Amino acid sequence: MPIRRTALMAATAAMITFGVKAAPAPHPEADAQALDLAKQAIALRSVAGPGNQTPQVAALFREALVAGGFAPGDITVTPVDDTAYLIARWHGRDPSLKPLVISGHMDVVEARRADWQRDPFTPVVENGYLFGRGATDMKLDDAIAIASLLELRREGYTPRRDIIIEFSGDEETTMKTGAIIADKLSNAELVLNVDGANGVIDEKSGKPAYFTWAGAEKSYADFQMVVTNPGGHSSEPRAVNAIDEMAAALLRIQQHRFTPEINPLTRSYFVNAAKWEQPATAAAMRAFAANPADPHAIATLSADPAMIGKIGTTCVVTMISGGHALNALPQRAEANINCRIFPGHPRDQIMAELKKAAADPAITFTDTTAGSVSTDASPMRPDVVAAIDKAMAAAFPGVPVFAAQDSGASDSMWSRAHHVPSYGISPLFIKSSDSFMHGLNERTPVAAISPAISVMLSVVTDLSR
Ligand SMILES: [Zn+2]
Repeated sequence: MPIRRTALMAATAAMITFGVKAAPAPHPEADAQALDLAKQAIALRSVAGPGNQTPQVAALFREALVAGGFAPGDITVTPVDDTAYLIARWHGRDPSLKPLVISGHMDVVEARRADWQRDPFTPVVENGYLFGRGATDMKLDDAIAIASLLELRREGYTPRRDIIIEFSGDEETTMKTGAIIADKLSNAELVLNVDGANGVIDEKSGKPAYFTWAGAEKSYADFQMVVTNPGGHSSEPRAVNAIDEMAAALLRIQQHRFTPEINPLTRSYFVNAAKWEQPATAAAMRAFAANPADPHAIATLSADPAMIGKIGTTCVVTMISGGHALNALPQRAEANINCRIFPGHPRDQIMAELKKAAADPAITFTDTTAGSVSTDASPMRPDVVAAIDKAMAAAFPGVPVFAAQDSGASDSMWSRAHHVPSYGISPLFIKSSDSFMHGLNERTPVAAISPAISVMLSVVTDLSR
């Protein structure tokens, strides 16, 4: 699951007045199916490693799709290592159009019974919440996507373009199946990735505060730095010592700042999200949106760990090793630099900049990144923006909706690498204080299901008709 919300916890200013407008038509059958399917999926322990039940989740979803009218021949479940991925196609009226892809993942992060209040793999509804690993990230989202498509079928809807629903099986670990799926679906018109909850409920009022969707994400990179030295006896120190050399270069990298930058998605975020922040941060967000070279705004945002990653590429040293004996001059020193790259920059460009900052030709740099690819931001397509705005206005009247950029990685990077416009949009609303994705006692309010399905029905229809 990508990370999007950060310092927007103090949403007390967000007292939205809800107008009474025509609510979307009810769909009780889909609501019930989504909850039921989510519970069945949560009960399957789809964690990477021995006993991984992701293939069983795929079988469960396949069965639900077939029961809802998908032709068995239009659904493939493909095993890969200890996991599996699923691709299902709903044929549209015009086979010449590129398909709309709805994307999710079936695997979850490990959860230990001893650490949880309840068994993470025994779904339970209590106090209005669905509890269980995957309640937020993202088996409930998967179930909502499936139930929404089956509701559209029940209503007799036929899309103009094909709708493909696909679920990867290792998004939380190696992200291998997401890459395979993106390869197979590289001709897609666009991807809607329903990973995680993107709506925020106000802590005090309990009402929806705002909703963000994502058109870009930071990309992950690791660079290994190595310096070697002939070494020698520690009683006879030499002018050049491999560990000293590495330490000095690391301090120069620490001092290095990548040029702050902005794109339409982060600008939208800074302008719209500022009102939920403390005054100093809010002023810096607005100033940065107006002028991304504003030194005062840059200083304020750079000092905030929740903000520094939103204004550019960041790189930090995460591991070091060196030396081979207590009484020997080190023959080798190594460091790992972990970077989160702002969209639009290839990794070799960032590595070259790091090398320049390190300013020591004796130190070699190697790109050791695994399971990641750097991508550009997807465009703010008017049809996508309009579809989201319209659906949200009907289901959540008066609630602000704006674009943002994810700080973490998602399966969307694979489709973006194929230049398929990809958007992170999960219509579930939860409180930030209830957000325990990857953490303990993961939960999502059951009341969030019905409006989420209304949003899905509207968005999927608008983008496929
Ligand atoms: Zn996720």
